[in-house]
Amino acid sequence: MEIKNGIPVSPGVAIAPALVLDSESFRIPRRFIRKDEVDTELKRFELARTKAIEEISDIRDSVHSAAKEEVGLIFDAHLRMLDDPLITREIPEKIKTKRYTPEYAVSRVFKKIVKPIKELNDAYFIQRVNDFYDIQKRLLRNLLGQRAHDLTQLDRKVVVVAHDLTPSQTATLDKNKVAGFITDVGGATSHTAILANALGIPAVVGLGTISSDISGGDVIIVDGKSGRVIINPDDAARAKYEARGQGYLDREKRMFEAAAKAERTTKDGVDVSLYANIEWDDEIELALKLGADGVGLFRTEFIYSKFGAHPTEEQHYEVYRRAHQMLEGRPLTLRTMDFGADKFASEVGLEREENPFLGCRSIRLSLREPHLFTTQIRAALRAALLGPTKIMLPMIGSIEEFHAARQLIENVKADLTREGIEFRPDVPLGMMVEVPSAAVMIDSFMEDSDFFSIGTNDLVQYTMAVDRNNQYVANLFKHTNPAVLRLVKQVIDEAVKHNKPVSVCGEMAGEARFAMILLGFGLREFSVGPTAMPELRTLLSRVTLAEAEELSKKAMCLAHADKIADLLDIEVARLLPSEEFGE
Ligand code: PEP
Ligand code: MG
Repeated sequence: MEIKNGIPVSPGVAIAPALVLDSESFRIPRRFIRKDEVDTELKRFELARTKAIEEISDIRDSVHSAAKEEVGLIFDAHLRMLDDPLITREIPEKIKTKRYTPEYAVSRVFKKIVKPIKELNDAYFIQRVNDFYDIQKRLLRNLLGQRAHDLTQLDRKVVVVAHDLTPSQTATLDKNKVAGFITDVGGATSHTAILANALGIPAVVGLGTISSDISGGDVIIVDGKSGRVIINPDDAARAKYEARGQGYLDREKRMFEAAAKAERTTKDGVDVSLYANIEWDDEIELALKLGADGVGLFRTEFIYSKFGAHPTEEQHYEVYRRAHQMLEGRPLTLRTMDFGADKFASEVGLEREENPFLGCRSIRLSLREPHLFTTQIRAALRAALLGPTKIMLPMIGSIEEFHAARQLIENVKADLTREGIEFRPDVPLGMMVEVPSAAVMIDSFMEDSDFFSIGTNDLVQYTMAVDRNNQYVANLFKHTNPAVLRLVKQVIDEAVKHNKPVSVCGEMAGEARFAMILLGFGLREFSVGPTAMPELRTLLSRVTLAEAEELSKKAMCLAHADKIADLLDIEVARLLPSEEFGE
């Protein structure tokens, strides 16, 4: 039994055998062979190795003939590795004596090679690790004949173990088969984490080398609340975590019951709206069940993961139509496509950028590729006839960007009018405040933007210069950093002063510990993942405005993020005591 600790991103307990995906998502179908299969399997391995040698020689020759000698040398090195006794002797040895399948033997031997090199934590050696992965992938591809990574086709419950899962891989996980997932990389507000929550799949990320430490078939416990992962637990640990899993479910049930009874105001009667953040229209059903007042953030980029890089206007329209139908007159805030960086960059065929988080993502891409943007806007303006709609622009960093996007929208309206197509012309146009420059200059947007939604996930990332997906700096990603809090407060203050609607739609809004400080700043609209709603509603109904204002004043006098967090935790413990909700 081995215990690892990572970053908890989606609560709940999962206990199931591991399905390990390597970085190209190969799946090793079987681990052992019969005695009479040994010869055939040895031949299969040798064929795969020979094919790898041929492939690499071809690449080397083509780069040599293109006079890229240095690149050719890399492939010479790969060829030498394929002749190394670790590969030519150790893998066949494991097939013979341990009766491993060649695929499993390859994955075991490469894990053994790579582990000590990775532990050196040296940039040069990390590059060599990638070379080994390259060779491993080549061998596995040749053995398996194809990539086997279809996570939608699982035949039993598993814990998925991967170096990383892209948002689109996460989005296709079958909740009935994937009991939980764990990854080497990632942070608490990464999109993979947000999706795990939306799907209700227990998940832990940022576990370092977990994908090389675990072998397919190992039994894994995932505790998505504490971030603990146990490999091959003993009976006592298994029993303990089964009970803990039940404890989470009981807590959730009690929280739902409390929320259903709770007032939709603070204790002293101040109205507070809870809107849902969604990635797909079918999440609306759950959001409404949990008491959502509407949708405050529809991450429409997920439409592109479903329909490909260029959804048609009709495909967009159909999604928005269905959303309005389910919302039955409640508001729908459509955020225009926000791809780039970690979201769907490869799916929409974006070129690789050196620094994608600071690159041509989101609204910048919409302005560079206006046809993508205007197709979506046409559908949104037409669908707005079906129910209250707002259009929200992501990643606005300057007033010029806002004006440029607005101009494109005005052009779309002119086109629709000319074409005689019906649409709603007075759809409010607002913006996310998630780039620090916009937060600092928030007063200059008051005249133009009809509403504001603070995206704290990116606001923290860009204010603190901390990659929200990077586990090595996850300890620096703090919503309670006073610089972040000042920016958030300034945006709320300014919007309240100008009587403009303002919400927070980053993960911060969904965490009970931050609700009071946001309420104290003057926030009355929270936009959160549906599953966060019951706890939030319960807590907000138990606090008075005076208490929240007092708490936020106290917090703003402190310069230390952790001291502010401690202060907030004491209040959460008072309002949602564990004796009442337990676990
Ligand atoms: C945010 O940045 O806070 C936000 C809500 O948007 P996303 O998480 O989709 O980047
Ligand atoms: Mg964002």
